[in-house]
Amino acid sequence: MSRLVLRNVKTVTEDVFDLTIAEGAITSLDKPGSGVGEHVIDFKESVYMSSGWIDMHVHAFKEFSPYGDDIDEIGYKLGATTIVDAGSTGADRIDDLVAAGRQAKTNLLAFCNISRIGLERIDELTDKAWLDESVLVQKVQDHQDTIVGLKARISRSVVGEQGIKPLDVARRFSEKTQLPLMVHIGSGPPDIREVLERLQSRDIITHYLNGKANNLFDDSGQPLPAFLAAIDRGVHLDVGHGNASFSFDVADQAKLAGIPFHTISTDIYRKNRLEGPVYSLASVLSKFIALGYSLTEVIAAVTTSAATWLGRPELGRIEAGDAANLTLFSLEDKPLTLVDSEGAERLTQQQINVKGVVVNGEYVEL
Ligand SMILES: [Zn+2]
Repeated sequence: MSRLVLRNVKTVTEDVFDLTIAEGAITSLDKPGSGVGEHVIDFKESVYMSSGWIDMHVHAFKEFSPYGDDIDEIGYKLGATTIVDAGSTGADRIDDLVAAGRQAKTNLLAFCNISRIGLERIDELTDKAWLDESVLVQKVQDHQDTIVGLKARISRSVVGEQGIKPLDVARRFSEKTQLPLMVHIGSGPPDIREVLERLQSRDIITHYLNGKANNLFDDSGQPLPAFLAAIDRGVHLDVGHGNASFSFDVADQAKLAGIPFHTISTDIYRKNRLEGPVYSLASVLSKFIALGYSLTEVIAAVTTSAATWLGRPELGRIEAGDAANLTLFSLEDKPLTLVDSEGAERLTQQQINVKGVVVNGEYVEL
């Protein structure tokens, strides 16, 4: 048995420890300097370690364009040991997504698009012929280990003349499969209030900090009453930054109003990874540092909070016996100008940078 010791790493609360890994699992957590193994990497307290980051909104089916990318390019190489594909594929192609996930190092979970064609076209809810309950139910059964929810993109260019109807269909599919919905919001119609009133506990609103006209805040920057009511019902708020869905001004409004974020995610795909404004999960996390949130709050949004929603607590903790999925990162005092989806800039004095990961027991320096 070959044991790897990651020596003198620290938690976000500055507790220093050694962590030992063998055969893919965490075998022990020890006092700094006391871990025993054949291979030792001493980080000398220069890096933080958290459970492996979880990116709740990505596009990981590389055959589709524009919303597609390679699983490992947007997964472990960017510090996310688990990524959740946000409905890139529907029933027609989810077999292929799952098969690609098995070839990748990164752990892959997925929301299945309620439209059987998924993002093969980006107006996937304009024709109700693509909303097929029986094929969806079959695929949900086939891929119970991968599918964590259903995805419905409810904005004007996606639904066309169908308006709010696809969300009512999604609700029905949700009851039938017992899976929650991740609902993408954006330009109307449908009006955002029609969307909000249909959401239930455990459903996810993704893109909740978007700066479009049909967003969750009124003209004076106050959260809509229907938005507050949805939060009270237990609706989960996910960032889903993307090309067009994250505004620093709206994020300020949310912070002022005391609206929490539950998960911070990227909505990453090839173009917004290479050309921005997303670039990486670490870059999106740095934006929340720039907004004034603590490192502890920011990291919880990609670890414990995501793991809790997924019902997989082991993905959000560091404990002996669990599969070893870990992210090593730094918070560096180095100014950086960050850009949101509206082209607005913010200067941060501190940036988060990924230094390495352990993905299913394998250490990779980054
Ligand atoms: Zn997306």
